[in-house]
Amino acid sequence: MTADPAWLRQYTPDRSTAPAVEHHDALSMFRAAVARAPERAAIHYFDGTLSYAELDARSDALASALIADGVQHGDRVALLLQNVPAFVVGLIAAWKAGAIAVSLNPMNRERELRLLFEDCRPKLVITHPETFIEAVQPALAEQPTVQVLTTFARDDQTRNDARVLGALPAQAPPCPGTRALAEVIARHRGQRPPPVRFGADDIALLVYTSGTTGLPKGAMNRHGNVAFTAQVYRDWIGLSEADGVLGIAPLFHITGLIGHVALAFLLAAPLTLSYRFEPGVMLDALAERRPAFTIGAITALIALMNHRSAQRDALSSLKAIYSGGAPIAPAVVAAFEAKFGLYVRNAYGLTETTSPATLCPVHLRAPVDPAFGALSVGVPTYGTEIRIVDAETGAPVADGEAGEITIRGPQVVAGYWNRPEATTDAIRTGWLHTGDIGVLDGDGWLYLVDRKKDMINAAGYKVWPREVEDVLYTHPAVREAAVVGVPDAYRGETVKAVLSLKAGAEATSEAIIAHCRARMAAYKVPRLVEFMPELPKTVTGKILRRELRGNG
Ligand code: AMP
Repeated sequence: MTADPAWLRQYTPDRSTAPAVEHHDALSMFRAAVARAPERAAIHYFDGTLSYAELDARSDALASALIADGVQHGDRVALLLQNVPAFVVGLIAAWKAGAIAVSLNPMNRERELRLLFEDCRPKLVITHPETFIEAVQPALAEQPTVQVLTTFARDDQTRNDARVLGALPAQAPPCPGTRALAEVIARHRGQRPPPVRFGADDIALLVYTSGTTGLPKGAMNRHGNVAFTAQVYRDWIGLSEADGVLGIAPLFHITGLIGHVALAFLLAAPLTLSYRFEPGVMLDALAERRPAFTIGAITALIALMNHRSAQRDALSSLKAIYSGGAPIAPAVVAAFEAKFGLYVRNAYGLTETTSPATLCPVHLRAPVDPAFGALSVGVPTYGTEIRIVDAETGAPVADGEAGEITIRGPQVVAGYWNRPEATTDAIRTGWLHTGDIGVLDGDGWLYLVDRKKDMINAAGYKVWPREVEDVLYTHPAVREAAVVGVPDAYRGETVKAVLSLKAGAEATSEAIIAHCRARMAAYKVPRLVEFMPELPKTVTGKILRRELRGNG
């Protein structure tokens, strides 16, 4: 590292440039909150509240049950849940049992889950009854020994807000072969698991990201990574004890895991959860719980801004609001500020950086690059180095020149579960090669220019064309398939399929979409389908995705 990187000049003047790390594992962080404020609210879920002591008692009971069921140190416990209290209980219980928590998107369908389960080989899965019936049960057909606990999203509250819970049945549907999480906790209440201690390098989480091949890779977020990035949020923003956190991002994503759950533990603060994002519900939660911080995808913030009941003072309890995961248009930041009087700050990171690598400082506004109009994603945060390198040769480029963003710091993961080659490819001598193309200016501000990879970013959800194409090719009428991201006013980008059909075969857009919908999470399903007699190709026969993107 150079003696004085330019980005340090942007740091908030009255704060340290490198605060001492307080905890080296995520479980200690939670235990410290319980010791400090046992009676304080840990989770608000509509009209329900769980205190830190109650979260501790439930996770003790569940961890005791897990151990009784044979869960051992390093085993995987998979959470396939929306933003419900049981997610947090399951996470802590997994750690108390010495296990690794695997956070999986509950939107995954059977085909996707089968791959994920084959990779992480969970001992136990905690999920919702409807997710079990639709996806988990068939996906586990070949792993009959995996135990399943189910938790109903109407538990732990009585408001039954129809805007988000309305689609669920009044009672949990029966799920043969599973046990109800609430009953398991009740049976083991009062039991305490044997003490467990983690080192900073022990794996806390497996969080799946899709690689260039579209096959899921489990990023191994260490306990030390989690404790570090939680503290980055707290100290960078200047949050203090009991500053409440609003859960806008999904908890299964790294943003929610760190910027909501881990941060709340560090602050010993209440975390407000609302099953899934719905702008009207979020606005009500803001009014009722008065949180001090949130972070979410820009599409979620746009939805808050455009909601008919959004008043100017709706966000007045927030000390700061950040957005990450997808590009932010400067015009959106301006419109948001005009509406709420609050400036949205950019955060850039990957699952592989355990959430933030760069953040906009709280006392500054991010510059906009004059050449291509992009809002800066901020400056490297505490203890973090960013180097822009030539994407082909790996040689550093000059300030202001575009190249691949590489990152080194205490937040970079240990690698990918079961994927030594992918690990050495992505992390070279401590530097994470992100696949993002960016520019670092002379003052230390980072701008994202493009993606090296062909990934589509639909409202922060990452879609790999190859995976969608593979599913399209399973349709009997499809001869050639190419999947591209096209601009979309709401989602930033959306998924488009361009197809040619086999001679004599027929298929409608609706039939193609229905075929995909049955086989993959909704966010990956093409919204647009176009048919062409022949797809454009290179001389070697490779389909030219780039050319198709222009057809938007
Ligand atoms: P994930 O692992 O799902 O968090 O996705 C990480 C990817 O999201 C990065 O490699 C970027 O391509 C993109 N990304 C993250 N933060 C931002 C941001 N602030 N602006 C634009 N793209 C972002």
